[in-house]
Amino acid sequence: MSWNAIASFGPTALRNLNLISKDLASRWRPTPPGLAEASRHDLYLSPHCDDICFSLGAFARRRRQGVLLTLFSRSAYVARPETVAARGDDRIEAISGLRQREEQAFARQAGLHLSLGGFDEAPLRGHDPFDTSGADEDARRLDGLIIEAILAAAQERTEDQRPWLFCPAAIGGHIDHLVVLKVVLRHYEALRERWRVAFYEDLHYAAVWRARVTGLARFQALAAPIEPRRSLLPIGSAADKLALAALYPSQFVQLPASIAAFTPALRIPAPAHEALWSAEWA
Ligand SMILES: [Zn+2]
Repeated sequence: MSWNAIASFGPTALRNLNLISKDLASRWRPTPPGLAEASRHDLYLSPHCDDICFSLGAFARRRRQGVLLTLFSRSAYVARPETVAARGDDRIEAISGLRQREEQAFARQAGLHLSLGGFDEAPLRGHDPFDTSGADEDARRLDGLIIEAILAAAQERTEDQRPWLFCPAAIGGHIDHLVVLKVVLRHYEALRERWRVAFYEDLHYAAVWRARVTGLARFQALAAPIEPRRSLLPIGSAADKLALAALYPSQFVQLPASIAAFTPALRIPAPAHEALWSAEWA
């Protein structure tokens, strides 16, 4: 390829190339041995009921231990609104209860202890969930509450090795995911004293190439000082992962039949997988 051809690339093409090179590296690099170490003190941060299941469900179920902390566990969203009869405040309670029961069923299947943050999701705070212009302000306002919830979910530990903390990379640009990412990055050095921190690619958002390129460009800019590397975690049986996703019937008009919506979109051949970015590969 000539220099002129490369120079004619726009920023989008360069972002695509940058991500393809990182995906290629993750495709052939062995999974870091430290990632195989599971602990009952591992902490899975889920902005909403379903995010850990969709994004890291196969990984979590293989490990079968740790705490699932679902922060924005108050919600008014179901895929088929007509299936919930309650109105007004009762509706929020009914839907939150329904979604929390789904989350509990997943936690049981994955051997995780569920802890609920009890925070209102973005629409209940008066935000369009995909308008990220208020993310910095929300991250500042919720900072203390989120850190408090993280520390409250952490249990006393006796092992020498630090457990893992899994945080969303905020692909998809949902403001609640971005708020969690920003709070964790702001406290990264303090959190690292207690945990090894890794960031997961949010599914189903990361299953769309364009959303993934945009989301990971934002993540890499925010997380640039820590230089995270990607790890590709094959899920094994697609049917098993789809069965986990099916534990959340309230979130689908039709239950998913294909794994395509639950694996990151790559431009290179790769098995169905989940993905983590981390600087903790020692
Ligand atoms: Zn979410």
